[in-house]
Amino acid sequence: MRILVDMDGTIADWETKFYDTWRALHPDKVAVPVSERTTFRIVEQYPPEYRHHVRAVYTSPGFFRTLEPIPGALDAMREMREAGHDVRICTSPLSDYRNCVLEKYEWVEEYLGPDWIGALILTRDKSVVRGDVLVDDRPDVAGEASAEWEHVLYDQPYNQAVPRKRRLIWAAWRSVLESRR
Ligand SMILES: [Mg+2]
Repeated sequence: MRILVDMDGTIADWETKFYDTWRALHPDKVAVPVSERTTFRIVEQYPPEYRHHVRAVYTSPGFFRTLEPIPGALDAMREMREAGHDVRICTSPLSDYRNCVLEKYEWVEEYLGPDWIGALILTRDKSVVRGDVLVDDRPDVAGEASAEWEHVLYDQPYNQAVPRKRRLIWAAWRSVLESRR
């Protein structure tokens, strides 16, 4: 089957990097630990007057390139491929794309290797990409009602309120994805 895999919050640990960078840059300001995050968009969880500072963290050069892999993600990607699945990375770059687009490619090359570069799909509309499943931490993926894939939620603190969808952590990829109807 074709497995589409999101990047940020699914294989790349965006949240920890944000929190650590925020604490280092703004030790005097409120910081929300990853375990207490309840909104998908991080700006919604910080006071409105910090909006500019929040955006400045994740649009800065080097932010995306230096995200740590989510535990188990890299092994799972390789295992899925070795099991014969067509694994693609399907990620939405920021509208403010200047650093993040290049750095997403650099990240994939560094952590997965050059033979994964061709598996990277950058799109702001994942609903037009064909696949059997999309593993994504986002609670609601735009256009999913008309998409070919089933959205399987990558389990995160900020998507706990989402009912009905199946959930995955990488240690369990085989039982969740290969048990598909
Ligand atoms: Mg994501």
